[in-house]
Amino acid sequence: MTIIYSNQTAAIGVVPSPEQTPDQPIYHPSERSDVTSANLELFKTPKFRDLVANRLSGLVQIPTVTYDEMGLVGEDSRWEVFGALPKYFEETFLRVYHALEVITINKYAFLYTWKGSDSSLKPVVFMAHTDVVPAPEETSNRWTYPPFSGHYDGEHIWGRGSEDDKSNVIAILSAIDSLLGAGFEPSRTVVFAVGFDEEGGAPGGYGARCLAEHLIEAYGEDGVELIFDEGIPGIEEHFATEFALPATAEKGYLDVAVTIDTAGGHSSTPPDHTAIGYLARVIQAIEDNPFQSRLTAANPTLTYLKIIAIHAKDIPLGLRKAILDPRSADKVLKYMDSSLDLRALVRTSTAVDVVQGGEKANALPETAHIIVNHRIAVEESVQIVQDYYVHILSPLAKKWNFGLQGFGQEAAGNHNGTITLAGHDALEPSPTSDPQDQRFDWLTGTIRGVFGTDMIVAPVLLTGNTDTKFYWKLSSQIYRWSPWRASLDPRGSMMHTVDERMPVEGLLEMVRFYHEFIRVVDEKRR
Ligand SMILES: [Zn+2]
Repeated sequence: MTIIYSNQTAAIGVVPSPEQTPDQPIYHPSERSDVTSANLELFKTPKFRDLVANRLSGLVQIPTVTYDEMGLVGEDSRWEVFGALPKYFEETFLRVYHALEVITINKYAFLYTWKGSDSSLKPVVFMAHTDVVPAPEETSNRWTYPPFSGHYDGEHIWGRGSEDDKSNVIAILSAIDSLLGAGFEPSRTVVFAVGFDEEGGAPGGYGARCLAEHLIEAYGEDGVELIFDEGIPGIEEHFATEFALPATAEKGYLDVAVTIDTAGGHSSTPPDHTAIGYLARVIQAIEDNPFQSRLTAANPTLTYLKIIAIHAKDIPLGLRKAILDPRSADKVLKYMDSSLDLRALVRTSTAVDVVQGGEKANALPETAHIIVNHRIAVEESVQIVQDYYVHILSPLAKKWNFGLQGFGQEAAGNHNGTITLAGHDALEPSPTSDPQDQRFDWLTGTIRGVFGTDMIVAPVLLTGNTDTKFYWKLSSQIYRWSPWRASLDPRGSMMHTVDERMPVEGLLEMVRFYHEFIRVVDEKRR
């Protein structure tokens, strides 16, 4: 039996017919054609190609690994390797260090500020991070080149962090460096915030969180024009059409620990159910009652679907019609539920990831617990997930005469046992950046200016989280996108796995994109 927890129905809204859809804009910087011609030619040279590849290679060779639950900077010696970063950046980007203000926060976070001439314009903020996930010892013989070799074979830069996220760090600094080299002077202040604990670190965070606090103090709430951070390698082929897919929202996050406590005893005279047996029924109840799929305007997936329905060359006719017909919301949701990847975009996900209980074969377990991971849909909240547990588990607690505690419940009186609920690492879903906002057009136009007018831009939802979670107050427009074609590597993206590598062609695409986007945003007013 499936209890439908939410009874809200899907709403697809009014869809324009294809002929009413305005063409997406194309933007090139209109001023300083000398900068354009000098740098776009420079970027094509073998010398520049090797220069950016070697910059990335050098950064990959600094093994800036973070782990979960690290101690503070200065206390945990595993941070010391980050001490090589300031010198590396300063030597590699001498011109940037001459022209920009560079401040260091908590030793290893860097804030670059390129002051614009017009202080009435809100700054644009770029973000990236220098830390990487570990390359576990037991996988070392599976790497083609050692994970921190930064080996450059003329086509790819190999190693941990070459893609996530050192490629963005090098591309943004290289773009700024080239702009400086061509004598460009911004009117709008450009900020580049480089964190060091996106993948792991000390609880609470000391990189991006402190950078964001500093920026709030400097520019105030909503004091930033737009924010641009890493995302997935954001150009993909869907239904035979190339789409650029910047993320305009992120799902929320909650780990829920459910603990069952019962009386212990000897296993020669056991009750019908031990704590583990009760826990099994809890798991069953949770898995049998998934969150409902739904699709509203708060979810960028709705805009994405409308755009692919209109622009994708090979989209099946039935799907296209269903997306464009407001009466076919059920069909669209059925399509979204048909694959695990798509389904995750339209519902709060549930994954029972950890189970613990029992110590000895001849002793009854007194306690057993699970941790369930949820990625929260944009329409829902941490509170809704907590309420769901109370809703699902109250009947079981009553049936078993167990006390239910946590998430606003208190177990009073005598019970045969208890169910305790606790939430960890709670994060609300992000606000959704409005794709109708002019600033999204600036992004769309630049993407099509750099990658070609066949490219269609569609906003998407990220199911994971980035450092932007600390930046929500700074701007209503936050985009997460790594500006290169994943198809440049026939193996696809290998971030976080063995043999992570970055195609130098992709790195050059990133440099070109940042070079143009900084200038387009510099020229645009709203
Ligand atoms: Zn990353």
